[in-house]
Amino acid sequence: MKALLFIESNGEKVLGGSLELINAVKALDADGTALVAGDRAAADAVADLGIPVIFVDTATDCDTLTAVLSETVKENDPDVVLLANTALAKDIAPRIAARQDLGCVSDVTGISKADGKVIYTRPAYNGSILENIEVEGTAVITVRNGSFEKPEDTSNAGVTEKKIEIADDAVKAKIVDTVKEITESVNLEEAEIIVSGGRGMGSAENFELVKELASVLGGVVGATRPPIEDGWISRAHQVGQSGKIVAPKLYIACGISGAAQHTSGMMGSNYIVAINKDEDAPIFESANLSIVGNVTDILPVMIEEMKKA
Ligand code: FAD
Repeated sequence: MKALLFIESNGEKVLGGSLELINAVKALDADGTALVAGDRAAADAVADLGIPVIFVDTATDCDTLTAVLSETVKENDPDVVLLANTALAKDIAPRIAARQDLGCVSDVTGISKADGKVIYTRPAYNGSILENIEVEGTAVITVRNGSFEKPEDTSNAGVTEKKIEIADDAVKAKIVDTVKEITESVNLEEAEIIVSGGRGMGSAENFELVKELASVLGGVVGATRPPIEDGWISRAHQVGQSGKIVAPKLYIACGISGAAQHTSGMMGSNYIVAINKDEDAPIFESANLSIVGNVTDILPVMIEEMKKA
């Protein structure tokens, strides 16, 4: 079995998710070859992990990389093409699959073999079920971060430099500028106490109560998606499917309805307190302690009591 790994770097180092692909190839018991584009140092670093590398010195925009990977797939004819499940890979993988009429499976978290067939496992319905997928012919898969261990250094397997001509009209979108994201560092994953606010907080001003309660409890502020979209708090605080997965000792949910996209990120909490004015709010099904009432009445009382404690 032959595997082609598409390796991404950020210009400084190889992305962790890309490194994990090397152990995904081991799970497949396949002969792996890595493709690295545009970053020679990354190519050398991957070769040091014992996997032969094809290096193409090229631009790293999505259209160019799609063309480069597409050509490499044609030449190498792999049984599986693996990409880490990054934003870039989510663009490239389906395009490669569609161009060459290949099967595509995204967000794979496990790979196994049964009766000589490869089974790709991925979560569905917000992680409530796992799907096992078989692919006829070559599969293009993206692998979720954290699904495989990162490999240890072994002997250098060598880098082969290749030139791939890209037709001018193949590149429709060019990168004009790259701005490093300025992210606030919020350690939600490690926090023991999280106070989270939802749309029910009503306004940016009221959301300050969530911050104050978190502060008096020595905790960290979390949020659902609506307060972030309304600009009450930054995206670094989002808990849930497209935010952080948290597991504190105490999680206080204020004005949060309990949508699956949110609860999937906080169900690992040890003790959940929910405050909601609607006694039928779904969040109460997950809560150890349910408080029915208005957050703007209850939070000031909690803050005052905690200050006294
Ligand atoms: P609402 O659902 O509007 O609930 C507000 C709650 O506040 C209600 O239950 C109401 O009774 C209560 N309330 C109102 N006023 C008061 C008051 N004065 N006092 C007390 N209670 C009050 N969401 C996330 O949180 N995290 C994610 O990672 C995430 N990812 C998503 C990914 C996808 C692909 C999609 C489609 C959605 C995602 N969402 C995510 C959004 C998610 O579906 C919900 O829309 C969101 O979680 C709802 O947030 P909420 O509970 O704050 O708001």
